[in-house]
Amino acid sequence: MFDLVFLGTGAAAPSADRGLPALYIGCGPDRFLLDCGEGTLRQMLRAGLGFRGLRHVLLTHAHLDHIGGLPGLIATRALFGIDERLEILGSAETVAYAGELLALTVGRQRAAPYRLRAIEPGLVASWPAWRLEAFAVRHRNTQSLAYRFIERERHRLLPERLNLLGVPEGSLRRQLAQGAPVTLADGQLVTPEMVRAKPTVGAKLVVIGDVEDVSGLAPQVTAANALVVEATYLDRDAALASAHGHLTAAAGARLTREAGVGSLMLTHISGRYRPDEILAEACAVFARTAIAADFDHFTVTTKGLAGSGSG
Ligand SMILES: [Zn+2]
Ligand SMILES: [Zn+2]
Repeated sequence: MFDLVFLGTGAAAPSADRGLPALYIGCGPDRFLLDCGEGTLRQMLRAGLGFRGLRHVLLTHAHLDHIGGLPGLIATRALFGIDERLEILGSAETVAYAGELLALTVGRQRAAPYRLRAIEPGLVASWPAWRLEAFAVRHRNTQSLAYRFIERERHRLLPERLNLLGVPEGSLRRQLAQGAPVTLADGQLVTPEMVRAKPTVGAKLVVIGDVEDVSGLAPQVTAANALVVEATYLDRDAALASAHGHLTAAAGARLTREAGVGSLMLTHISGRYRPDEILAEACAVFARTAIAADFDHFTVTTKGLAGSGSG
């Protein structure tokens, strides 16, 4: 299960209602910030998330509206004496830009631990319960990355089989749960396959930031339970969308439908349109669409999307 809290859902400039892009993603004990527009720290506090457990910031691309909140976040962590290092990940171009911004600001503060890590499309990191992958997207000649969060298959042990084979409670069952074979006191070998239920598929979440063209991206988002993508323009302004390197609501919805995605969440919302216009355009193509508003909270599971899209 993935927990999502939209912290900033505006496009390019903040408004009274929408902060600059930032999305909190929680998976078990792991907490991520995806982009960090100016004002993100205060949005985290208002959302009741705090910032102590945060270890990773994933950046989509090198535009200031997506990274301008980093200096404040890092400086405030230092002020509160949080000395776990914050890792900031993105393409080489993105982390170089973030590095320049941070060198000019918190770089002068000794106690502001952070690390920039340039990543490539492919596997980014792996945890026991899930893994994180990145893939490239096109947006105004930047080295942009989108992110895919994939829960691993779960292999539940069957108590009746364990009892039948005489596997005692405790460490032997734990080893089997972790996928290791065990030998019982009577010398009998028990493999995980002998005592497992059919694997249950994990949830899959894809987050695409700013993007000008989604053709060819369907394989990257196939069968995701939920997709988050920008919707800065409507189809009637498709020429403007293309000129500014952004997407229309209908184009995001077409990708979602083509790729067999469960639910769509649209963000990066411009003040140029009313949210209900954006929702109507997307829903005409793909019905299970929500327009994200600041502080909306969703959970993504294999059963789909739950939570509030207040529009
Ligand atoms: Zn943007
Ligand atoms: Zn951008």
